[in-house]
Amino acid sequence: MSVLPDVPTSTDESGTIETDILIIGAGPAGLYGAYYAGFRGLSVTVMDVLPQAGGQISAMYPEKPIFDIAGFPAVRGRDLVANLVAQAEPYGPRHLLGHRAAELTYDSDRRPVVRSDQGALVRAGAVVVTGGVGTFTPRPLPAGEEFLGRGQVYFVPDPAEHTGHDVVVVGGGDSAFDWAAVLAPLARSVRLVHRTARFRAHRASVEKVRGLGVEVITDTEVSALHGTTHVERVEVRHRTTGATRELPARTVVAALGFVADLGPLQHWGLELTARRITVDTRMATNLPRVFAAGDITDYPGKVRLIAVGFGEVATAVNNAATVIDPEAALFPGHSTEKEN
Ligand SMILES: Cc1cc2nc3c(=O)[nH]c(=O)nc-3n(C[C@H](O)[C@H](O)[C@H](O)COP(=O)(O)OP(=O)(O)OC[C@H]3O[C@@H](n4cnc5c(N)ncnc54)[C@H](O)[C@@H]3O)c2cc1C
Repeated sequence: MSVLPDVPTSTDESGTIETDILIIGAGPAGLYGAYYAGFRGLSVTVMDVLPQAGGQISAMYPEKPIFDIAGFPAVRGRDLVANLVAQAEPYGPRHLLGHRAAELTYDSDRRPVVRSDQGALVRAGAVVVTGGVGTFTPRPLPAGEEFLGRGQVYFVPDPAEHTGHDVVVVGGGDSAFDWAAVLAPLARSVRLVHRTARFRAHRASVEKVRGLGVEVITDTEVSALHGTTHVERVEVRHRTTGATRELPARTVVAALGFVADLGPLQHWGLELTARRITVDTRMATNLPRVFAAGDITDYPGKVRLIAVGFGEVATAVNNAATVIDPEAALFPGHSTEKEN
């Protein structure tokens, strides 16, 4: 899922990307929106501040089976994301990953222009905001910042990369135990370090990890990482006795949770209710040519589920299509009527 196709939509002479639909947020809602835009014959650009697609799924529970996606009795998070990317791929969406949507302005034709924090400019026929809970930044491992990218990671996009390595996972929540369970069969050793003996993770996950032979070290904090060019050892300290110990580690996964922040979107003039974007039944916001879908929207009776986000983004894209081209039909036709 880390390697995405990058098929450019057109770029004008000033380097501005021209696209029919700009989707902000590559979570499940945004990825499905990219399919839907392509299905309607619209060019689409997907922007996300994270380096990977999948939103909350990829960041927090890629290995968990999801049981409430229509048509799938169970689907692993990672597989759902890969399928969503594959579903849109025939239409060549452009992916701008690692770009935070920073600023919204309008050109002289009243078309939205979004600037990213990396300096990309995207002029769109319409914008669909699928920003979920906003940008979620991993909580840092204070002792580990120096080794970020040199063995200290927050995500494990490809568990196979850690085959034969010594791994230390830090944290006591579901993500920490999920990473430990996924890596245990591949890595040479996995140790899980947590500052207390109480875990936020489900009891079943804790038991599973213990059953896989992972050493669970409690009441202990990471005090330092050591290595020359890359992490080699992790120093941990018992919180009451102060005793220290060194653990071998090529990878340290800091799974300490995330801080969610609506970020620049809250300054765009969007009507917000409790940090969510107010939408009408077309998924239109109060701003011209700006729609929203998925967890970030709010209206009476809103339910925050992936299934709901899929429906909302289909509504958003179809209504956006009629704004881009007033002659276009709202109903897109059935996918079964289209040739592949
Ligand atoms: C542990 C856990 C388990 C869950 N289990 C289930 C389940 O079983 N079934 C279910 O239906 N739901 C489940 N959920 C909820 C589900 O994950 C969310 O409803 C879903 O991810 C929302 O999708 P989304 O596309 O709206 O937003 P998100 O998945 O939050 O994606 C939003 C994306 O927008 C990006 N973004 C935000 N602001 C900007 C910006 N300014 N510029 C660029 N990018 C931006 C973010 O980086 C993010 O990637 C679970 C959630 C968690 C945390």
